[in-house]
Amino acid sequence: MNRVRCLVLNAALGPLDYKVPEGMDVGPGSVVECPLGPRTVIGIVWEAERLAGTEVPAEKLRPLRGVLPVPPLSAALRRLIEWTADYYVASLASVARMALSSGGALKGPATMTEYRLTGGLPERMTPQREAALGALEGEQATIRELAGIAGVSEGVLRGLVNHGALEPVEVDCDRPYPPARPDFVEIALSAQQREAADIFSNAVRKAEFAPFLLDGVTGSGKTETYFEPVAQALRMGRQVLVLLPEIALTENFLHRFEERFGAPPVLWHSSLKSTERRRAYRAVSEGSAQVVVGARSALFLPFRQLGLIVVDEAHETSFKQEEGVRYNARDVAVMRGHFEQVPVVLASATPALESLQMAESGIYAKIDLPSRYGGAQMPTIEAIDLTEEKPPQGMWLAQRLVDGIEARLERGEQSLLFLNRRGYAPLTLCRNCGFRYQCPNCSAWLVEHRFTNRLACHHCGHEAPAPKSCTECGEPDCLVACGPGVERIADEVAERLPQARVFVATSDTLNSPGRAAEFIAAVEAREVDVIVGTQLVTKGFHFPELTLVGVVDADLGLEGGDLRAGERTYQQVAQVAGRAGRGSKPGEVLLQTRHPDAPVIAALAAGDRDAFYSAETEMRREAGAPPFGRWASIIISSEDDAEAREAANRIGAFRPDVAECMILGPAPAPMALLRGRYRYRFLINARRSVQLQQVIRRWLAAIDHPPGVRVAVDIDPYSF
Ligand code: ADP
Ligand code: ZN
Repeated sequence: MNRVRCLVLNAALGPLDYKVPEGMDVGPGSVVECPLGPRTVIGIVWEAERLAGTEVPAEKLRPLRGVLPVPPLSAALRRLIEWTADYYVASLASVARMALSSGGALKGPATMTEYRLTGGLPERMTPQREAALGALEGEQATIRELAGIAGVSEGVLRGLVNHGALEPVEVDCDRPYPPARPDFVEIALSAQQREAADIFSNAVRKAEFAPFLLDGVTGSGKTETYFEPVAQALRMGRQVLVLLPEIALTENFLHRFEERFGAPPVLWHSSLKSTERRRAYRAVSEGSAQVVVGARSALFLPFRQLGLIVVDEAHETSFKQEEGVRYNARDVAVMRGHFEQVPVVLASATPALESLQMAESGIYAKIDLPSRYGGAQMPTIEAIDLTEEKPPQGMWLAQRLVDGIEARLERGEQSLLFLNRRGYAPLTLCRNCGFRYQCPNCSAWLVEHRFTNRLACHHCGHEAPAPKSCTECGEPDCLVACGPGVERIADEVAERLPQARVFVATSDTLNSPGRAAEFIAAVEAREVDVIVGTQLVTKGFHFPELTLVGVVDADLGLEGGDLRAGERTYQQVAQVAGRAGRGSKPGEVLLQTRHPDAPVIAALAAGDRDAFYSAETEMRREAGAPPFGRWASIIISSEDDAEAREAANRIGAFRPDVAECMILGPAPAPMALLRGRYRYRFLINARRSVQLQQVIRRWLAAIDHPPGVRVAVDIDPYSF
């Protein structure tokens, strides 16, 4: 008799054994339907010897119900799932769920039904129907997705189908993607680019694990350079995965990709429609999706034959997942390359210290592109000391910066003002009673958005109309904006330079690929003089007429005081500075700061990257921080404050005593209330020699909690 061990996709259950019915063809990696009580759950057949489980006597085994019509998860992907669960102290099931996240992609047939407007109207109009008809202009999606877009119930839309106002469209999820052609357009590389590209292409040819750190200054042509090994993989009939940090802003990348390879790549991110998801998932597993460009979740896709992985802007903090399984996609990408036996290229102009350290110790091969392509010069960077050059009362921009923008206006060039704060003002209070508007779900102030006249929480998305009078004391028109956000800076520019055409670029205004494309087109057509933007505009853009970058508050990132504050500030400013002077005209960068002598600011102004990295390295070494020591955190949360605190204290009572491992806490987490959950935290700092994951797993294993309590482990945390 044939028995198999299955990893079921329910974290609360261990692995379960089943009997394979006569004639059913399953092996390791098969995705199967497992009976569980009266229910059927999805499971993955796993190698029994790699998955400890209880031996069930043969006569008690229940038979598998069926096999799903998807290719089995490869051994490489199964090893990646095991590694991720092990390293990040997560359950195998929760990691495996990410690999099968495309739910519908698994079971469903190759065709799905979407709906679109017919142009006809229902006989009887209701306000909801009218709203739906207005919102669904140009949309085509499943009923459920359309209901989400229109903000009405599915019932309303079914009514519209019955009245002939919406019509079904059959979508074939197996239709092939247009082929990418490796030699569609040949690009002449510079000598330095060619040398790097050849190294990567050779590694692809050899088809073995080889991690690279492509360390190239902004504008050096990192993309052109890694397109060469992409072409090499295509020639070999192998697939490529390119991870990008901000999938909303891939417009520019997609455009360049299509110009080079004659067809767009396959996209993978969380806001794909279900038909697109199913199509992409199937094509990836069959091997017909040649190049996948995705957000971090693309790492767990079932590639049939991968040939190369690229992580662009590899230092980006958005590669770190902060919910569920808290993994860092950059590190998991390297491990996927290891298990798949393919090269991995991490590209960045400002690599994470951890990556540089890996290069230093010889684990990653470091490939440098030290100069900009086509002879463009690096911009000059100067600090403006705000304690000396004070902006006018109630304003935020020093006169020197405004003069710089004005000079660009006269020359028909463009400027970019960077401030990493959406909205009008980060804090709103009542002038009469001093009441501060706080989020009901988070320990955070509400941010005023003047464009929409609302107060919003940037942590949980809570929103309310800006009150006309104070909700505490009733004083009318009493709201005072404290501090600047991008909208306020845009107002200031408009006031001081009325002739300037200003565009605010944030996730509020560039919230769709279409909007992003419009923005790029407007800047390229020189319909914009001054861009005021958040970190969304710090990377990827190439605007030749942009010659001035002003950093409104270079100190902003340093305030949190966490471990990576210096590094993040350096990266952000260097990235945004990299937008200046990319064409034939030289670029200038002005940093507004109150601390011109802070090491990060001084290194930026001196253009001395090495000085920054070596000071930062020393600081980390002394603090026993990564990459020299290790950090982890444990967050205990519940909707009930007392329950969370008790759970944290209970965990604290079992605190292990391990040499060279310091455990701090429990203490309220920096965001003590987040999305309605009260949070307590332990912080663990250990020497590299400590088996940190093992310590944490053993510690937490024996402790039970009420169902409302969540315990999350964060290895190599980013937010402290
Ligand atoms: P990075 O990602 O390193 O900042 P990019 O890849 O965006 O740099 O390249 C900067 C600009 O230079 C882009 O507009 C790109 O098209 C151009 N460029 C780079 N290398 C070449 C090349 N070999 N031939 C033509 N244009 C190039
Ligand atoms: Zn909130």
